[in-house]
Formats: sequence, C-alpha cells, structure tokens
Amino acid sequence: MTSTLPNDNIKNFDEQITNKLISEIIRDRIKSKGVRFSANDNIADFINPGELEILEKEVASRIRDLLKSLIIDIDNDHNTLETAERVSKMYLNEVFKGRYYEQPKVTSFPNDKNLDEIYTVGPISVRSACSHHLVPILGECWIGIKPGNKVIGLSKFARVADWVFSRPHIQEEAVMILADEIEKLCEPKGLGIIVKAQHYCMKWRGVKEPNTSMINSVVRGDFRHDISLKQEFFELVKQQSSNNNY
Ligand SMILES: [Zn+2]
Repeated sequence: MTSTLPNDNIKNFDEQITNKLISEIIRDRIKSKGVRFSANDNIADFINPGELEILEKEVASRIRDLLKSLIIDIDNDHNTLETAERVSKMYLNEVFKGRYYEQPKVTSFPNDKNLDEIYTVGPISVRSACSHHLVPILGECWIGIKPGNKVIGLSKFARVADWVFSRPHIQEEAVMILADEIEKLCEPKGLGIIVKAQHYCMKWRGVKEPNTSMINSVVRGDFRHDISLKQEFFELVKQQSSNNNY
C-alpha cells in the first residue's frame, strides 16, 4: 500500500531542507500566490502554526545587528542587553500584530428589526506607526453606520480598528482599509469614518510641531449620496469628541 503525504506536508518538508530563513519561506509563499505584502497588509494566511516564534528569533537577531551598527555595546550595556528580543516581540505581537495575526472573530447578526437610523461609535483609540519612519501615530477614530442587512456588536468596531491600525501605515490608507473591513463585516447602507491623529514624525523629529494633528475621513454608500445624512454623521461625532465626558 502506498502512502501519500498531504501537499502541505510535502511543501513544509521541501522548505525545511532548503535551509532558508523563515522570513524567506513566508515571503516565497506569499509571492507564489501573487499577493501584495506591503507594510499595511495582513499576511496571517501565509504563516503556519509555530512559525511566528521562529520569526521572532530571526527579527531579534536583525535588531541585534542594528544595535551593533549603531555602535551600542549590547554585550556590556545592561540596559540594552535584551533590547533586541523586546523589540522583536513588540513588533510581531503588539504594535504590528495586525500584520501577523488573523482578524479578531466578529459575529454578525441579521438586522431583523430593519434598523435604519444612523449611529456613531467613538472615540476609539487608534495606535499605529508611520510606514516612513516607524514612529508612532496616536489618535482617535469615530465610526458612523446606517445599518444594512447585518449588525455587529459595538465593541467589535474597536477590535477591528485596533487590528487594522496595528500595522505600519499612512493615515489616508489606514482609514480606507478600516472602511473596507467594516463593509465586509456588516454591509452597511452607509458608512462614515473619521480619524484624528498625531504623528510622531512631526512631533519628535523633522519640523518638531508638537500640537499638529491630521484629520481625515471616508464616507461611503448613503453617507456619500445623501448630504443631510453626512451632516448628521459629522454632527453626532462632534458631540462625541473626547472633551465631552458623558
Ligand atoms: Zn513618518
């Protein structure tokens, strides 16, 4: 009797004997499917169980090289002894987890009562980093919905926003990606998103403007076509701004 290995096992075996770095293996997998892997893309589908831990070790060794190139004595400076490991863990599992982890589970429910009044959720804290300098972008986000056929729980908006923003971004694209994900989840008749954020590449370096923020928005569906609905969305968000503690 002949036994055949499942395709995935054969592939993994081939990959193991090539002696490639885990990042190369994952990158090759993505490229073979012709999929984009920009800084603000999620690549969780291409990472097998257990590989993220191996990737964490590879990234740590690269950060160690970076620190060495910055001529920091990581062998004797007790403050930076384990910085490489900490930074690697932080990138893969915290600040950029939206690239390496799957979307949090979001259950949607049928809109049985045919709700069609708009509502807004916010402010939701958003934390990201700019793709250009990898320094923080910190801000708030408001989401407005005119329900369609499906509804999701309010807390889910915060979870999805966190997942989308936990990647290197430029703010304009982050808002579009979040809008795409929310449209997929609840198919609203109208959708509006506003993000207000401070960019540390402007605060910490460059022009060093500590109080400048960037606000951008996206409106889709009925929010785009119906001016009064769009105004109602912006009016509701104004009332929800973080200065009002009620
Ligand atoms: Zn920047």
